Amino acid sequence: MSHDPERFVASHVKDLPRSGIRDFFAVVSEMPQAISLGIGEPDFVTPWHIREAAIFALEKGCTSYTDNRGLLRLRREISKYVAGLFGPEYDPAEEILVTVGVSEAVDIALRAILNPGDKVLYHEPCYVSYAPSVALAGGEAIAVGTRPEDDFALDTSAFEEAWEPGCKALLLNFPTNPTGGTADRKKLESLARFAVEKDLLVISDEIYAELTYEGEHVGIASLPGMRERTLLLHGFSKAFAMTGFRIGYACGPAELIEAMMKVHQYCMMCAPILSQEAAVEALVHGVDDVARMKEQYRRRRDYLVRRFSELGLSCQSPRGSFYTFPSVRGSGLDEVTFAHRLLREAEVAVVPGTAFGEHWANHVRASFSTSYPRLVEATERMARFLDKVQVSKDSAPEPAPEPVGA
Ligand code: PLP
Repeated sequence: MSHDPERFVASHVKDLPRSGIRDFFAVVSEMPQAISLGIGEPDFVTPWHIREAAIFALEKGCTSYTDNRGLLRLRREISKYVAGLFGPEYDPAEEILVTVGVSEAVDIALRAILNPGDKVLYHEPCYVSYAPSVALAGGEAIAVGTRPEDDFALDTSAFEEAWEPGCKALLLNFPTNPTGGTADRKKLESLARFAVEKDLLVISDEIYAELTYEGEHVGIASLPGMRERTLLLHGFSKAFAMTGFRIGYACGPAELIEAMMKVHQYCMMCAPILSQEAAVEALVHGVDDVARMKEQYRRRRDYLVRRFSELGLSCQSPRGSFYTFPSVRGSGLDEVTFAHRLLREAEVAVVPGTAFGEHWANHVRASFSTSYPRLVEATERMARFLDKVQVSKDSAPEPAPEPVGA
């Protein structure tokens, strides 16, 4: 009999790629002088009054489970907040589910709606968990590209082309990780028409909504006819700098929230009570903190985009999120070599674009959720690195010409 424990692992899990980001950042964490522009979380510590709310709740002895759907007080605050930010009103009793981050919300939304083989359209480059989450839920993910020359905006005609029978859902994320692309009202209206025409459920991950720098964020659920076919996913990790609290939520029609609740109840029971208490405080008193952090991000974004173009790395100015997605083609290196050499030789970490979709060669993700002085230092290091790369490129022998037809 085989003694290899791997034989117990399900084949669809064996087939899943490991997240390239985590492996890369395990290396970075061993390099104390490295400046990481790779991580997808705020450098800000959660505002003090929010931490204090969690401490106070612990002092009061809040150590129990909560309602599976989350504390009603929190769901009421979410309902008010969402109505202000995204448009639709959701009933706290039946149309809101508090989850363990948007990560859990994506997972249970897919598990609640997909039958084996159902197809899900999503756009690339995108957050690393989407295609694996679809696969884990027994579905088939169909990627649709976005383009730098369109500011990585979502384009309905690309979705129309990719559509095929069996498509059940459209998984959207805007502002987008890793490109910072957004979707304006016109683009969303056209996507909404497409969703209605093809009878698709929209799963809309709007976790970066507050971090929109150009124009206003429009929630797709607020468009006519969309509330009934949209699951809006949102959370506290990014705008409120609360990644470690692991708290998010889903809003949508009662029937779909009930289906998600069933999955949530059996796998998670409820989100942690201390995080829920902190989330109430965030919504009631934390909105100014979000504005303060957003202004810092905007200033850093403008600096980073300007420096990248001075360094010959072409880079769209992200309209939202805290990521830039520059092309490194100008360096003459592919994205993986660029990221590895930049880390080894200049101690700056960025993520190769191919971590976000196979077509994203020649790009890297560099986030500006790092303090301004560290961004300045990181770009100085990059400038020295690029000079060195340029010198070795100039002194390298001419490559042999490619054989015709190769
Ligand atoms: N969705 C997107 C687009 C993200 O970028 C991330 C984290 O990077 C998540 C969801 C996960 O968020 P949470 O911390 O709420 O699980």
